[in-house]
This record gives sequence, structure tokens and C-alpha cells, in this order.
Amino acid sequence: MSTIDGLPPLREVIATHGLSAKKSLGQNFLLDLNLTAKIARQAGELTGCDVLEIGPGPGGLTRGLLAEGARKVLAVEKDPRCLPALQEIAAAYGGRLEVLQGDALAIDPLVHLVPPIKIAANLPYNVGTELLVRWLTPPTWPPFWETLTLMFQREVAERIVARPGSKAYGRLAVLAQWRAEVRIAMQLPPDAFTPPPKVSSAVVHLAALPAPRFEADAAVLSRVVAVAFNQRRKMLRASLRGLAPDIEERLKAVGIPPTERAEQVELEAFCALARAVAAP
Ligand code: SAM
Repeated sequence: MSTIDGLPPLREVIATHGLSAKKSLGQNFLLDLNLTAKIARQAGELTGCDVLEIGPGPGGLTRGLLAEGARKVLAVEKDPRCLPALQEIAAAYGGRLEVLQGDALAIDPLVHLVPPIKIAANLPYNVGTELLVRWLTPPTWPPFWETLTLMFQREVAERIVARPGSKAYGRLAVLAQWRAEVRIAMQLPPDAFTPPPKVSSAVVHLAALPAPRFEADAAVLSRVVAVAFNQRRKMLRASLRGLAPDIEERLKAVGIPPTERAEQVELEAFCALARAVAAP
């Protein structure tokens, strides 16, 4: 039996290539091609775009991205067992798929891609947050990508879109909402995956803003929010003491009560604080 793109169904691909899921690589595969096509469509118009995919595994989402018209997909996969299956997709799609075997954290995708670039991935849970923070915190903006369409554990997705005052509000919300328009695009139950993970998942869509909402240095803002939320129950004058000896004055200067807790601080105030902390 073959599928709409003439390639075998994913269960067959997995059986043929012996792709038993490895927990250490965060392997929870999506085997329903209708579902991977739906996720690919969340990335928006792909015609004329290069797409970076991290962790293609047996290639379900990869096939969705190619079928949706991506000019080129660069798929970065750590597990060498997946390469033969991915090479079959590359052959079927006439050279529009380039596969790199290696660690996504160690690869420079810009050597292989031409703008406009979108990123789409069912991310391995062990490197997902680190990759997202990297994509959100380059020193200059706009970044090399236009949109990110990323599958996370639902709890992580909720942290990305969280508003001040909620338990999920923290570093990811501030960094993401500072420079991007964010929304949860889809929710997926555990049984959408093989093997099913313990938790639900969600696809988050982030569209890079032309400029950050408020002025701040990415590295300083990242450090301020990391320190502030590291001890989220403490008052800021205590949690941020290590950043500057006169932090109480700097907080007051930007209109944040030193007794406030990180959870209550709006994005604009965090950016003002980052500017105050960076000042001599
Ligand atoms: N995209 C496939 C799907 O939706 O069925 C697989 C998703 S699975 C959640 C994550 C994939 O990322 C696995 O194929 C795993 O081998 C790969 N992976 C894990 N760590 C990686 C890393 N550091 N760099 C690149 N790929 C990685």
C-alpha cells in the first residue's frame, strides 16, 4: 500500500528500517500523514520558502512540509538509523530535501538555507527549549527565520504564551512575546504519537516581529528574567540582588516596586529593567 506521495505508510517505514523509538533521543513519532500535513499547514504558505526541520525521525512532518510546497527542507537528525528512510523521501521529492546527520545544537543552518526561511519541527524534548531560546535571542533582530511552528509538551507551550500573573509566566513567555507574535495553533493528545508520551502536546506558532516590542539588549534581558524567575516567590529586591548592588534603586527608577514578584512584572517593565541594569 502506498500513500498520496507514493511513499510507503510510516508504520511500514518504521518496520522496514527498524526504527524502534529511543527514549534517550525523545523519539515519539507522528505516524498519521493527515496529522503531519495539518501541522505543516500551520506553518503558513511554504511555497518559495526554505524550511529548517529539527528531528525529522522517519519523516512524517518532512513529507507534509514538502507536499505543502516548501522550496527546500533542511532536516537535521541526530539518529543515523533514520537516514535511509529520509533518503527515500529525498529521492521522491527531486532534491528538495537535504538531510544533515548531527546534533541540531551544533549545526549552522544558514550555510544550507536561503531566505525566506521558516522553522517547523516536532522537537525532541531534551533540546527543544534550548533551541527556542537560541532562536529568540540572537544579538540583532529580525532573525534569520520568519516563523517557528513547533511541537512542545503542552506545559512548555503554555509557558510560551502565558500572561503576567499566571503560574506559567516566566522566562520563555518574556523572551518569546518580546520579539514575536505567539499563539497555540493545535493541541494533540498523547495517543497521536508512537509511543504515546505521558503528557499532552501542543503546536506553538511564533511569527517574528519586524522589531522587538520594547528596546533591550537580548543577553541582558535574558539574564534578568532568568535570575528573576529562578526564585519566583521572592521579592525582586532579593532575587535580583546579585545583578547589581543598587538593584533596589534601579527597580524604583523604572517604576517597579522592589517588593514585587517576577510573576507580576509586565514585558515592558522587564525591558525597562534590562536597560537600567545595562546602564553604568
Ligand atoms: N519529526 C518526527 C515525527 O514527528 O514523527 C520525530 C519527532 S521526535 C519527537 C524527535 C526527533 O528528534 C527524533 O527523531 C530524534 O532522533 C531527533 N533528535 C533528538 N535529539 C536531537 C538533536 N540534538 N539534534 C537533532 N535531532 C535530534
